[in-house]
Amino acid sequence: MSRTPYVGGNWKMNLHGDEALALAQSLASVTAMSGPADVVICPAFMYLSSVGDVLAKAGSLIKLGAQDFYAQPNGAFTGEVSLSMLRDVGVSVVLVGHSERRHVLGEPDTLINEKTLAALEADMEVILCVGETLEQRKAGKTDAINWGQTGYGLAGVTADQMTRVTIAYEPVWAIGTGMTATPGDAQNAHQAIRAFVQFGLFNESIAQSMRIMYGGSAKPANAGDLIAQPDVDGFLVGGASLVSDDFAAIVAATQEN
Ligand code: PEP
Repeated sequence: MSRTPYVGGNWKMNLHGDEALALAQSLASVTAMSGPADVVICPAFMYLSSVGDVLAKAGSLIKLGAQDFYAQPNGAFTGEVSLSMLRDVGVSVVLVGHSERRHVLGEPDTLINEKTLAALEADMEVILCVGETLEQRKAGKTDAINWGQTGYGLAGVTADQMTRVTIAYEPVWAIGTGMTATPGDAQNAHQAIRAFVQFGLFNESIAQSMRIMYGGSAKPANAGDLIAQPDVDGFLVGGASLVSDDFAAIVAATQEN
């Protein structure tokens, strides 16, 4: 089955006002939609609204995504941001379970599942991130970790909602380190995740139509070999998404495949 490539830019806690707007402006002009690809960028909360305005004014098809949110609709949750607040400023995609939220901010699978369900209930698209640490990989636990995080993350998700779910396989040891999974390792992990969704959670049709992005030091130099793998459907990009030509080149690699 052919799946439309999907590329996400996770800006993390980078770029201040004008820098964020300049990058959005540049991406809107250089990220050519020369072939089919879905593209989303995820700026920091502060700049979602203004980045969204830049994209809208440029008539860009790039979607606006949020890096995080709180699962409750409103109330006494100091410092948190709700899904409806994100919707107000034009966000249609949310990241859930990013490794930095799991491992630096300490988010457990239960919270990640709560967020996934709340986001889907709120009609958002979800990019659910999964991936093993170096220790887990060395111990031969890569698939077990990915299956566990996928299974917990998607518990209670309906078959209909799965059309709005993308998995991002992001080996923790490859994120922001300059180390990238080999195309073969990425393919093995993606194939195993897809098989789990088919046999363990849903069915063949859902598993085959679900997109799985690769994340972990993706850049123009390795995007072509990675996207050539049959189960790699795009990229979640951190560092290289801060450089508009690099991000555009990664998008182009998926369109050329
Ligand atoms: C990420 O933030 O999801 C990511 C994959 O970062 P990087 O591309 O910098 O490794």
